[in-house]
Amino acid sequence: MSSTKIKKVFKSSFVSNSQTTGWLKNHAVIVQDNLISDILHQDKLPKDIDQTHKVINLGKVFLIPGLIETHAHMHCAGTKDTFKLATSENNDSLLIRAAKNLSTALYSGVTTLRDLGSKNEIAFSIKNSIESNIIKSPKVILSGTPITTTAGHCHFFATEADTKEEVLKAIRKQVKLGAEVIKIMASGGGFTPRSNRYKAQYTSEIIKAAVVETERLGIPIAAHAHATESIKQCVDAGVKHIIHSSWLSENSENGEDYDQKTTKEMAEKNIWVDPGGGVTLLRRENAPDYQMPNWTSTDVSGDVSEKDPEHDNRRTEILLDMYDKGVRFLGGLDVGMAHAHFDNTPATAWFTVENLGFSPWEGIQSLTNNNAEGLGINNQVGNIRVGLNADLISFEKDPSQNIRNLNNPNSVIQNGKILKFNHKLVSDD
Ligand SMILES: [Zn+2]
Repeated sequence: MSSTKIKKVFKSSFVSNSQTTGWLKNHAVIVQDNLISDILHQDKLPKDIDQTHKVINLGKVFLIPGLIETHAHMHCAGTKDTFKLATSENNDSLLIRAAKNLSTALYSGVTTLRDLGSKNEIAFSIKNSIESNIIKSPKVILSGTPITTTAGHCHFFATEADTKEEVLKAIRKQVKLGAEVIKIMASGGGFTPRSNRYKAQYTSEIIKAAVVETERLGIPIAAHAHATESIKQCVDAGVKHIIHSSWLSENSENGEDYDQKTTKEMAEKNIWVDPGGGVTLLRRENAPDYQMPNWTSTDVSGDVSEKDPEHDNRRTEILLDMYDKGVRFLGGLDVGMAHAHFDNTPATAWFTVENLGFSPWEGIQSLTNNNAEGLGINNQVGNIRVGLNADLISFEKDPSQNIRNLNNPNSVIQNGKILKFNHKLVSDD
């Protein structure tokens, strides 16, 4: 019998409840195979439980569901020279880097990770290695190679597709390879010299055709969109997930060009937005001098967000207005971009609490049940609830008191297997 089939009991002083809104005290989580089979007070455990179950006392810790990262680039370094590395390393190096990055993410508490753009040769090879249990990794949901225009955002690891026919072919190719989500670059981006963040990369007709094709094939589509023009196209077409949603004006001197009517339509169409605020928070704290290069020849003011001290306040106002109008947020860090390391996922929750003013429990939810719902996997993960995967992480200090305590879990359990216990990696649970 493989070790995962042994029934286990995880005792913890504090266990998050079935909605991840509060603590159950001195409870035990019973795990059978890889699933949670019961949650009960420790006093109600049968006296001879250790005869039938492996009993693990996690101690005076705060146990929550494993974190879900919705936006990563597994072969990007997350260092300040990440662009140079991503454009110079060969596939062998990228593959090794991806394997290391994913294990870093896992031991930092991320048990599910959606990759929104990595070379097919890397992403699908890595998935095979995970399934063969060669490397330790969060469960991955892959887009593989993203779709962009020639010389467009992330062209150096994307499929360049300019016409409608080319985009449809690129989508079909990803499905054939096993992609579970399609990533399309609807505007230029800061990571790519001479792409233009302030303009759409595609026509509305092409974005619409891409959405229709993904619907036909039963696969969600996520779009990178900084420019207001590109956001409007994506909302009109019904793209499921809009990443960044920066509302950048075509004339960058004007800063943002926020449109409330488009926001209302987002809410009506149940479009989720990943505002990606965690990476901005990390750059401000860890690299205050960080500036995105002024890469775009048409870009007169460089990066709006880094040069304008009022930007943070305006961004917060816009995001809160979007939230008030009913837009749901996905919590994604854009892991792999500059100053977004693979153990930095909790920064999204910090941003949710500190910049948007949400409660610490809402911060915890932003990376657990909320992301599970946004990705449509809330019947598998996202809460500590009977029937869900036993993906559990624990902290010595209470993250519902201070969201910064959501960092560096002392224990990580994935599918009922202990991978880290009291800060030590466990190799043979
Ligand atoms: Zn990204």
